[in-house]
Amino acid sequence: MTDPLYRRVIVKLSGEALNGAQGSVVDQKMVERLAADLVAAAALGVELGVVVGGGNIFRGVEVSGRGVPRPVGDTMGMLATVMNCLVLEAAVERAGREARTLSALAMPSVCETYNRKRAMKNLGKGRVVLLAAGTGNPFFTTDTTAVLRAAELDAQAVLKATNVDGVYSADPKKDPKAKRYDKLSHQEAIENDLRVMDSTAFALARENRMPIIVFSIAEKGAIEAVLRGKGRATVVG
Ligand code: UDP
Repeated sequence: MTDPLYRRVIVKLSGEALNGAQGSVVDQKMVERLAADLVAAAALGVELGVVVGGGNIFRGVEVSGRGVPRPVGDTMGMLATVMNCLVLEAAVERAGREARTLSALAMPSVCETYNRKRAMKNLGKGRVVLLAAGTGNPFFTTDTTAVLRAAELDAQAVLKATNVDGVYSADPKKDPKAKRYDKLSHQEAIENDLRVMDSTAFALARENRMPIIVFSIAEKGAIEAVLRGKGRATVVG
């Protein structure tokens, strides 16, 4: 059995990963699948922080398009990420691994508040740490949160789960000639205008030389495969 490539990582799951094919806001089967993947990955001895998006429920930009002030819409988006973290936390625990949700927005009757030391301590105990409410500030995304938390928690990489198996030169669903990359540098991604993450998230990753590993979450066991260096993925870094 190959040893995992990393000791501590941040996994970024978009909110859409939770609604599966059913079209419901949260597809419980999908949640359980993701939880099983996280538990299998943690069983390798890798410390896992998980940043979950909220796009399956609310995105600030979309809400503000309906006349709500953008910071209010963004707060709704951050609250959506808390709900997603709570459902995943319960599923991870049911699957046999301790988990903790830490929220960047304080809500002490719901879960603990995020701070670096608390997150480090929980990671050190082998718990899956669900990082909720993004950065706690409007105008940011959960991709930015993933890179920020990876940098502040000394993680060695961000594992960005998507619905394609890596970074392509164009949308592979629209352009059959799209080229897939196995590896590229942050600089090459910028020069070729490859949008791996939003520009704030990507700038932060580049400045901190944080590798971003883009992979598809569609296959069961995908996170574990990436951690063993066996999965199909693009490594940016
Ligand atoms: N959000 C925010 N600040 C943050 C992270 C997220 O305001 O630090 C809000 C923002 O409105 C965003 C929503 O939460 O649209 C959900 O996050 P995101 O769009 O990143 O989720 P995903 O697309 O990954 O599901």
